Amino acid sequence: MTIRKALTIAGSDSGGGAGIQADLKTFQELGVFGTSALTAVTAQNTLGVHGVYPLTAEAVEKQIDAVLSDMGVDALKTGMLFSAEIIEAAARKLHEYECQNVIVDPVMIAKGGASLLQEEATEALKKVLLPRALVVTPNIPEAEVIAGMTITSEEDKKEAAKIIASFGPKNVLIKGGHDEGTKTIDLLYDGKIFHTFLGKRIDTKDTHGTGCTFSAAMTAAIAKGASVRVAAQTAKQFIQAAIEDGLYIGEGHGPTNHWA
Ligand code: PLP
Repeated sequence: MTIRKALTIAGSDSGGGAGIQADLKTFQELGVFGTSALTAVTAQNTLGVHGVYPLTAEAVEKQIDAVLSDMGVDALKTGMLFSAEIIEAAARKLHEYECQNVIVDPVMIAKGGASLLQEEATEALKKVLLPRALVVTPNIPEAEVIAGMTITSEEDKKEAAKIIASFGPKNVLIKGGHDEGTKTIDLLYDGKIFHTFLGKRIDTKDTHGTGCTFSAAMTAAIAKGASVRVAAQTAKQFIQAAIEDGLYIGEGHGPTNHWA
């Protein structure tokens, strides 16, 4: 049996709904061996983020070295990177190990409002990390920050995708979780063609960790050899089921169900 391997470079969520924990659970569910490089520890539960404790850039580099020099991976994702120094360290390692299947989830702000990326780090994200990405998966607020524009329509989404593509990722996937109305439309732009993935809005407050889970599902699918388009479809189905079949854990915004 060929074991497919994936790496997540991201933050820890003590509540187990987002971050490294969501990524590893998703990798496991999709049959991929998960490895991790922690960037920060958060003290977090369904009520919110109660503390953020970043690791040094050196600690992040050492973890990536340890995994890539020995085990290698078929795909990797980045999540919460917190600072420009950590972004630069991760980008250096991706260059050194010539990583190809890189999924960048440009995590910026937790749903409760806590900052997971320092404001000044957005420039580093655009300059050194996006050029290394096979696909970048912003939600609408993240796409607005990266593209420097407001998104209020499907046409705006397309324009933002084009601007984000100009920073160098091979594909841009703008997630529709923040769309108004009963439908959600994920938009994938491969530099030439737009593809859309339609979903239905599920009325729930338990959506903590959906972004992490979505990008981890894409990473797992790509590790198993899927194209970006098929991986986006797989991730959409995985996250839709995970939201639909809620776990109802905790008093606040609960995690999605990775077993669904
Ligand atoms: N905490 C960590 C460590 C994360 O990586 C993320 C990812 O986006 C979040 C929290 C945010 O999760 P949410 O926006 O679903 O609350």
